Amino acid sequence: MVVANQKGGVGKTTTAVNIAAGLAQGGLKVMVIDIDPQGNASTALGVEHSEGTVGTYEVLVDQHPLIDALARCPDLPGVWVLPATIDLAGAEIGLVATVSRETRLKTALDGFFDHYYVDYVIIDCPPSLGLLTLNALVAAHEIMIPIQCEYYALEGVTQLLKTINLVKGRLNDTLVLSTVLLTMYDGRTNLSAQVADEVRKHFERETLRTVIPRSVRVAEAPSYGQTVVTYQLNSVGAQAYVSAAQEIAERGATGF
Ligand code: ADP
Ligand code: MG
Repeated sequence: MVVANQKGGVGKTTTAVNIAAGLAQGGLKVMVIDIDPQGNASTALGVEHSEGTVGTYEVLVDQHPLIDALARCPDLPGVWVLPATIDLAGAEIGLVATVSRETRLKTALDGFFDHYYVDYVIIDCPPSLGLLTLNALVAAHEIMIPIQCEYYALEGVTQLLKTINLVKGRLNDTLVLSTVLLTMYDGRTNLSAQVADEVRKHFERETLRTVIPRSVRVAEAPSYGQTVVTYQLNSVGAQAYVSAAQEIAERGATGF
């Protein structure tokens, strides 16, 4: 499942790591692939990602075996992370001249699944629709879009939908937009409620019942190298992510 939205700051990374944590809490095995050179998902999951650490760059550009590049998340048994270092910023350029540049991640995952099993792969995308995001869209079956309950919430989603359709037609027939998650919901404002209504109208089947509230605990967890699920499981934010993960698991592989 790829977590995408080319708008920055909508909660992609927070969603990717906390849904992974929620699924792992339910006993599932999860691989998180960080394909954002900022490496925020790697930070939140507490794995080493200093410059030179073997990670996504090596797997995509050097075709390094995925299994050797995975790091165990220290706080979450069942979660494995392909870390992103700043080196990944050069990957778009590094890949441009290579053969099968859009299918590198898919090939790496296919090789991995010949020998190993995980229940979910969650890919955290950068805020752009470049070659890194394209690799994610080619490798995945499902897309999850986090939408922030703010003005212009749907801005950019149309462009993402066009890209999804292009990829679907040419590079990956199995791709579906399965899940929309409302994030940073502020129950005190009418705006959040209005945005949530509008999104539910557009994405009636896709939108999860669970809504992620705006919460200080969610925002501060990464500074402890943790997900909010491991940092404060009893907080409203952690509980919301656990329940969103449950909904996803209940929907199953088809997404509905
Ligand atoms: P993206 O990956 O889309 O750029 P992030 O997940 O990094 O977005 O979130 C952007 C910022 O908003 C981060 O500082 C994050 O901690 C904060 N944030 C995300 N979700 C919440 C939430 N539910 N409540 C409060 N802050 C949040
Ligand atoms: Mg991010």
